[in-house]
Amino acid sequence: MALPTIMHKNKIPAKNSSKNKKHKKSTPSKKRQQAVNPEELINSDQLGPEQHGRVIAQYGANLDIEDAQGKTWHCVSRRNLPKLVCGDNVLWQTAGQKINVVTAQLPRSSLLARPDFNNRLKPVAANVDQIFVVISIKPVFDEDLINRYLVASQLTKIPALIIVNKADLLDKDTKRQVVDRLKIYENIGYKIIYTSTKEQAGLSALVRELKNNTSIFVGQSGVGKSSLINALIPDLDIRVGALSTASGLGKHTTTASILYRLASEGYLIDSPGIREFGLGHIDQKQIAEGFIEFHQFIAQCKFNDCTHIMEPHCAIISAVEAGLISRKRYESYMRILKTLGNR
Ligand code: GDP
Ligand code: ZN
Repeated sequence: MALPTIMHKNKIPAKNSSKNKKHKKSTPSKKRQQAVNPEELINSDQLGPEQHGRVIAQYGANLDIEDAQGKTWHCVSRRNLPKLVCGDNVLWQTAGQKINVVTAQLPRSSLLARPDFNNRLKPVAANVDQIFVVISIKPVFDEDLINRYLVASQLTKIPALIIVNKADLLDKDTKRQVVDRLKIYENIGYKIIYTSTKEQAGLSALVRELKNNTSIFVGQSGVGKSSLINALIPDLDIRVGALSTASGLGKHTTTASILYRLASEGYLIDSPGIREFGLGHIDQKQIAEGFIEFHQFIAQCKFNDCTHIMEPHCAIISAVEAGLISRKRYESYMRILKTLGNR
């Protein structure tokens, strides 16, 4: 089984394009971006009052901020601020020009990151309230992959739900089998939603879950994440086009993370870099912590550093034997442990 990887690199246009005059001409607003000094904006006598906003897209030093009324403002960030990402809550001020200035970052409730090409973690989305793990039967799901996503979400302390997309491909028997296989997840508290973008089924149940939250879809390539986003945001292309025009960076900005406000009150972050987010560099203890149903037993293991593999008086093993923890999940935990060394 292929490990979920998160090495996707956003394709921000190369800086050296200015070497070529023709390129420079094709991205006129680049001049504007390079010329803007946030510290000059902050000294402008046309500075407006401080307002709350949310980062809906970020391209290098440029940010698109949504104000409380849902209007988008093009901004640059003050130099003393940490790197802002999609979903960040900020304070910002109009500067009497086309470009405005972000003056403060507000505290984050959560942060999703992915490793960059040097394997250093790079933040990509902030203030995500829930992660939807999208699966399907084509490509077919497997429990280890689901468990990896659930462990990763558990470690970021963001609750997860499971979407079984392509429900139209499930005949009666297959549906029963899938429902049976996924029962163990329901038993430990994960909600499961069946959807079909092809038949527009299950979408209202999904919309209910998205309401008043900031959500993100993760999952294997081909399960239908983009199709779901398109189904939920019918004017998606227009919005992406508007952002690309505002930033002057063209269509390739669609590879950056973008926060969408849903008509049904809620936000959805589409982040190509995080769609297949995985476990990164974590150890055995963290994997055990990522299995939500292990929590209530872990403290009762005899040894503090119990790996729950074969230690005597292991509360996890006892719970498996007593039927309190699913053996399938426990065996998956063991398999995931084995893959730790060869990521
Ligand atoms: P992503 O890689 O997860 O973003 O997946 P896509 O949204 O690109 O979808 C992959 C393929 O699955 C496309 O050919 C879609 O048309 C198809 N697909 C998406 N949703 C459904 C669905 O509900 N039912 C069926 N039968 N196919 C779907
Ligand atoms: Zn143990």
